[in-house]
Amino acid sequence: MNYKWLENAAIEQPENIALKFQDESLNYRQLYMKAHELATHLQALKVKRVGLYIDNSLDASILIHALMLSGTEMVMLNTRLTVHELKLQLEEVSVSTVLSTIHLDIPEFKVLSFEEIYDLPAETFMLNDPAANDILSIMFTSGTTGRAKAVGQTYSNHYASHINCQKFLNYKEDSVWMMVNPIFHISGLSILFRSVISMSTMVIMNKFKTDLAWQTLEHEKVTHTSMVPVMLNRLVKEEGTHFLQALLMGGANTTPKLLQKAKDKGLPVYNSFGMTETCSQIVQLSYDDPKIFSGAVGNIHDTMTEITIDETTDEMLLSGDSVVQSYLNADIELKGGFFNTGDIIQIDEDGYIYVLDRRNDLIISGGENIYPKEIEDVVYQLDGVNRCVVIKKEDDEWGYVPILLLEDDIDQTTLLNHLYKHLAKYKIPREIYVIDEIKTTSTGKISRTINRNMFLNL
Ligand code: ATP
Ligand code: MG
Repeated sequence: MNYKWLENAAIEQPENIALKFQDESLNYRQLYMKAHELATHLQALKVKRVGLYIDNSLDASILIHALMLSGTEMVMLNTRLTVHELKLQLEEVSVSTVLSTIHLDIPEFKVLSFEEIYDLPAETFMLNDPAANDILSIMFTSGTTGRAKAVGQTYSNHYASHINCQKFLNYKEDSVWMMVNPIFHISGLSILFRSVISMSTMVIMNKFKTDLAWQTLEHEKVTHTSMVPVMLNRLVKEEGTHFLQALLMGGANTTPKLLQKAKDKGLPVYNSFGMTETCSQIVQLSYDDPKIFSGAVGNIHDTMTEITIDETTDEMLLSGDSVVQSYLNADIELKGGFFNTGDIIQIDEDGYIYVLDRRNDLIISGGENIYPKEIEDVVYQLDGVNRCVVIKKEDDEWGYVPILLLEDDIDQTTLLNHLYKHLAKYKIPREIYVIDEIKTTSTGKISRTINRNMFLNL
């Protein structure tokens, strides 16, 4: 097994287009030469690990390939973080040099722009021949449940993730992937790896704009892509032509209502489940699966990852080649050799997986388990609800009770009638508030922890 993905592609498919960005494109031979040249300059840094502060661009993609050729570990930094947050993350993973494709100024750290790397003296170097367990990338989790964990993703983890995905989505050298999710997030970065390993084309979108997304899908004949629910929501509101074979949704709950809208539009939408710790999705469910609108995220029989459930806590336990072994800044939770995701799930008699909630968000009220997601799902069924979150509040009598925060000022009687119709009485939120803004993490997820702390002043 060799992990020299770019070299393999440059030898086997030199003329195939590797990257496309706006009106520029590079075939695999050109990409290899560019990345190789950049790698000669990177040698002068004399560091084993760098931070990357990059946007979705051609330069950023070349840089990632150059770092792989030179065997330098890359810490993916979220560009929405503040300088203070970035400093803390860099310190946690002992990095003092940051390479960037967008402006960044962090005092005490050495920051080099893409152009400045070329000012470093060129040095000859030994091409990296990665071992399976070498770290390729270090990526922080979203921090939805608290402090973000630094995940060490190896070459074999990323490779296994690709193999699992390819088995179900059948992409190959004439496929066209579109990367629109952030490159510093696993749903973006994994597309770069899938594309180079399969020697296919990757079209890069810098920012999601609905009309531009439709244009790109049509003009570039995109066959595969991943999006987050906000993007899909905007996409389905407009018209367009496409050649898509798979549009993956994941990272957070995608409502059946949105999946249905997308399918009605003729989009081959897939629900999926994955984590930073599993180097992208481990399961996916196709638009033509009979249970696509049931809330299921995949099936335990359709994956190369072993998925089981903790009998006492109902937490999802995982084992497989794409599942990482350690964090750099925390202990990873293992149970009988399995990675404990902290996600509470159900598996039905046919093997379909339903994510109920995260362990941290579970509300135990008078001895009953209440899953905030179940309440939110019911609220989302109402027209006019764009964003809501259910949080737990301490209560003298019940221990904890659920309370509902909404951004949309919808009719309270309609809301309450709807809640009473669909939920047992003990699950009805005790208090309902319309607030200005529901807070999201730097990866755009609604975090119950953050909203709870803000709202209850904890
Ligand atoms: P942190 O671990 O720092 O609290 P995070 O878990 O949100 O943050 P990620 O690795 O980005 O960080 O997200 C993985 C989590 O996202 C999963 O553990 C799960 O809770 C949630 N998730 C992913 N896909 C889905 C899905 N299809 N439905 C519901 N939840 C999902
Ligand atoms: Mg997590």
